[in-house]
Amino acid sequence: MSATVLIIDDSVTVREQIIRTLESFNLFTRYFEAEDGLEGFKKLLTNPVDIILCDLEMPRMDGFKFLSMLKGRPDFQDVPVIILTGRDDKERKVKGLEQGASDYITKPFDHDELVARVKVHLKIKKLQDELKRSNERLLELSNTDHLTGLFNRRYMMEALDKEMQRSIRKGGTLSLILLDIDHFKRVNDDYGHQKGDTVLQKVALLLQKELRTYDCAARYGGEEFVAILPDSTLKESVFVADRIRQAVQSARFDSPLDTLNLTVSLGVASFSKEDTTTVDGFIKIADDALYRAKANGRNRVEFHEAAFSAGSASDIHTETTMQSS
Ligand code: GH3
Ligand code: MG
Ligand code: MG
Ligand code: MG
Repeated sequence: MSATVLIIDDSVTVREQIIRTLESFNLFTRYFEAEDGLEGFKKLLTNPVDIILCDLEMPRMDGFKFLSMLKGRPDFQDVPVIILTGRDDKERKVKGLEQGASDYITKPFDHDELVARVKVHLKIKKLQDELKRSNERLLELSNTDHLTGLFNRRYMMEALDKEMQRSIRKGGTLSLILLDIDHFKRVNDDYGHQKGDTVLQKVALLLQKELRTYDCAARYGGEEFVAILPDSTLKESVFVADRIRQAVQSARFDSPLDTLNLTVSLGVASFSKEDTTTVDGFIKIADDALYRAKANGRNRVEFHEAAFSAGSASDIHTETTMQSS
């Protein structure tokens, strides 16, 4: 087991005894020592540990103060603390446990008992860490579209809601791009569903490549994608959308898709609370622009200018003609 321990006690003798005992059972690969709560806390900040053994009575900062400092740090919540108390110190044992200690050991300590308790808490800590990791993985999976690796629709809706609330509160600009692959049904019909999936993955990559790290790209469903662009004006976002359009148009695929001429249509909208305050309402506005892009011949960008936008979009010109609503 490659675990680390922090031993906080003002007595060098006690610290040495504990280390010798634990060493004889090969429980740890690293031992950190501190002579009071303050030094212990400082060590903890630079050295993550798996378990802490902490005396209660110490000069400068005692064990109770140390426990209360730990409470204020969410990143240390999972580290078990075993307090070291006097044998007849019932009140202080209870107080320590109430303040967040996981367990106590009475001094002078019994070696077997010390090892047994440390083992139990290391095991709990290990299980907790595993549970935390698999929860994080589950959360990641529940936010991800499996085919493309982009965020999925559920995550996108939540993220968009947050960005809209932020824009309402702080007044920043926010834009939305909706992308739909042109005649994608034909891709499936001509090359098969599996090749169709390859095309979806490629479009996802191209989309992500044209966005900034703090933009959010998601698969909205089927062959439709969404990009959320915080702090972007309509004009900037229309340019991004047109770059995406051009990137898809000039993308080359491996055989047998090398004969494919893939294009996408895009609808862009900038957010204004005067137009709508709901996520569905905002998506609908971008979707209407996308619909016009399809109706006006595909492989193009159409946009909706917000009711009270910061700058006029009348000077937007790109390679293809783009019209506002
Ligand atoms: P338009 O230019 O009007 O958008 O035409 P389109 O053919 O792209 O639109 P339509 O909505 O008629 O067809 C979308 C197709 O996307 C139909 C569906 O089979 C296909 N599709 C949806 N999800 C997937 C997927 O995960 N993989 C593959 N390969 N195809 C998918
Ligand atoms: Mg002491
Ligand atoms: Mg579609
Ligand atoms: Mg389509």
